[in-house]
Amino acid sequence: MEGAGPRRGADQNVVREVNRSLVLAALRAGGRISRAGIARVTTLAKPTVSAIVDELIADGLVREVGRGATSVGGGRPPILLEFNAASHLVVGAHIGARRTTVAVSDADGHELGRREFDTPTGTPEAVLREVAAQAAGVVGAAVPDGRIAAVGVVLPGLTDFHRGVCLLAPNLGWRDVPVGEVLTAILGVPVYLHNAGQAAAVAEHLEGVGAKVGDLALLYVGTGLSVAVLCAGQVLYGAGGTAGEIGHCRMPGGTVPCNCGNVGCLETLASGPALVRLAREALAAGRASVLNGGFDVRDVAAAARCGDAVATEAVAEVGRNLGLAASWVINAYNPAMLVLGGGLAAISDLLLPHLRATTTQYALGPARRAVEIQVSTLGRDAEVRGAVLLALQHSTTYDRVVLRS
Ligand SMILES: [Zn+2]
Repeated sequence: MEGAGPRRGADQNVVREVNRSLVLAALRAGGRISRAGIARVTTLAKPTVSAIVDELIADGLVREVGRGATSVGGGRPPILLEFNAASHLVVGAHIGARRTTVAVSDADGHELGRREFDTPTGTPEAVLREVAAQAAGVVGAAVPDGRIAAVGVVLPGLTDFHRGVCLLAPNLGWRDVPVGEVLTAILGVPVYLHNAGQAAAVAEHLEGVGAKVGDLALLYVGTGLSVAVLCAGQVLYGAGGTAGEIGHCRMPGGTVPCNCGNVGCLETLASGPALVRLAREALAAGRASVLNGGFDVRDVAAAARCGDAVATEAVAEVGRNLGLAASWVINAYNPAMLVLGGGLAAISDLLLPHLRATTTQYALGPARRAVEIQVSTLGRDAEVRGAVLLALQHSTTYDRVVLRS
């Protein structure tokens, strides 16, 4: 039969990967365990187990840790094995407009250390050089002689995951920056680039409010607005990596210039800056308010909590516009959970009632009934944890089976 050879080869690879993941699962669940013990737990043949264990020892993921008790038959005590998570370090970096966080974790995703510092000013190359230096520093402090296996980078803006390129990040002043190429040249390891919303969605899915719900959408709202969609737990990237840029869909009647170059984009009516601008416009129209002079999102939220009419109306309008975005996402993707994340999630108590009401009004009944609307529980930790988890997911087949086992 034509194509039988390659097909069988592919099947054998899958079998090998599955067997490897079974062995790793036994090692991670069972503490110290012998080769015979793994064979018993997994029901794999002993020679198969031995071959996989030899591979894992060569990779540093497993180590021998002495001998166990004498077996019932009185034979030689078996050599015990242990999973060595520290052999495989992963760095996550969240480059924010003002602050940057670099964290290092082991192959289990346990965080071993982190640093937070002001995002350096200067060229993108200078920023990435500093991120690389901090990454090496945090790894060295956590695990002397530790080896970085992969790096995950997240930033606010449009990213092309497949090429590792930041297409546009207005808050950083970046355009067409080959982040992956630059960092790989310095650190000599694979680099996985995502936008902040995608990272937050993966982190909420695996460790936050997402509770491992596979079909999850995260509305990421702060300076801008985007949505990250997970299908069966995997990020939907689109052909060029820019899927989810819902904030740049045009709102009929919108007149405010957007930093993408268009006019009237949704994020000019549903974001932190939109909230402040709406309050400012009401003041300019002569409305009375406790707000005056220079104020920011927190001031508007505080005024709304005190019953200020201008602030209350601005919050309601942004909440309704976020609800519109949510209804489009719910209709288009039918997620089981929709999470509100990003900086504006900090005032979710004010926004959610409006978001929910608008969603109930405009989303299709069956899709609305199927979705649970929640708020991020990881808060400001979501982006850097997502960077770590995405790097672990992508880095190698070994990491994928480690994480999912
Ligand atoms: Zn726009």
